Amino acid sequence: MKDFDPTKNHPMVGVPLDKLKPKPVRKKLDLTLWEKLYVPEVLRGLGITTKHFASNMLGFVVPPKGKKRKVFTVYYPEEQVVLPPAYRGRPVLVMRPDGTEKCVACGLCEKICPAHAISIVGAERGDAERYPESYILDMSRCVFCGYCEEVCPKEAIVMSSEYQGLAEKERSQLLYSKERLLRSEESVRGRIEYIRRIYSKCNY
Ligand code: SF4
Ligand code: SF4
Repeated sequence: MKDFDPTKNHPMVGVPLDKLKPKPVRKKLDLTLWEKLYVPEVLRGLGITTKHFASNMLGFVVPPKGKKRKVFTVYYPEEQVVLPPAYRGRPVLVMRPDGTEKCVACGLCEKICPAHAISIVGAERGDAERYPESYILDMSRCVFCGYCEEVCPKEAIVMSSEYQGLAEKERSQLLYSKERLLRSEESVRGRIEYIRRIYSKCNY
């Protein structure tokens, strides 16, 4: 899977990702008369979908020359998708440079998880710092909502861009232990910077 450079134009977004600003949520939405009519907006949506469908189909019939392709499909697995940081793949635990987990076993992610996918057993180190002695994430239950990431006070769990290896023959193989979940902070740097921008917005 390719990593992205946030200072360069993203192939799907068209602008550098670090220039993207979250759009404010319109909470009190006053629909125009045109929007209230409903059907024109449905037709507009269908038009956009048809446009992308046609451009992707044309891309297959007439293979694009060079790298400047206009289609959004890729020849997977020979070509790998460059995912935007908003993508929510497998939740992973973040590791400090010394190899220890950032998680302090506060249990907030376990509490908020709507799928009851997280089970934590906390413990204390010699210096009274808390850590998860056991952290189990059941990927057969996870619905990739991102609540665990959003609630974590330590940026210790983030939604990575990992989408491979999510299907297994045995359910037991979808039980991820702490050791299987730990990733270096550097490998999820893009997502951490993204959630700092997103979660600090004043929509709450
Ligand atoms: S992404 Fe959602 S469902 Fe998955 S572990 Fe986190 S809170 Fe639970
Ligand atoms: S991952 Fe975050 S929210 Fe979950 S127990 Fe660890 S510190 Fe708390």
